[in-house]
Amino acid sequence: MSANFCLRCGQALQAVDLFGKRRQRCAQCGYIHFEDPKVAVAAHAVQGQQVLLVQRAVEPEIGKWALPAGYVDRGEDPRLAVLRELEEETSLLGEVTGLVEVFFNTSSAIPVIVIVYRVRVVSGSLMAGDDVTAAAWFRADALPTLAFESTRQVIAAWQRSARSG
Ligand SMILES: [Zn+2]
Repeated sequence: MSANFCLRCGQALQAVDLFGKRRQRCAQCGYIHFEDPKVAVAAHAVQGQQVLLVQRAVEPEIGKWALPAGYVDRGEDPRLAVLRELEEETSLLGEVTGLVEVFFNTSSAIPVIVIVYRVRVVSGSLMAGDDVTAAAWFRADALPTLAFESTRQVIAAWQRSARSG
């Protein structure tokens, strides 16, 4: 997030060239405002021949289906963040069993690094939760309309492996 005033002392920040980039610095106390990257996590959960998807209740791509996903909080382990998001959106408890892919999504105003984990569901009853209108398991040959290029790529790779397996 950008800032106009110093988060430490409240003075107006000035734009200066620092460490190879234009950055906001406080002339009063020397505070430099670094813009941290935004990081999201997504869960690729498969059970038998089916993949777990949630229908988005918020923009962007409202109404389309995606992997259970959300932003990582500062200080939060992304492996725990993905399980938290899974539980919040689907009421299912899972465990991380591997890394699927890391995407750099530049389609929205703020670019997002998306870490997709392979997740095994261990317990819970499927129920739509935060930010989603529905949550369901889908077979590879009966998928709904998908949101996001990263979802489509993960699902396409899964379909290929399901066909060859
Ligand atoms: Zn300051």
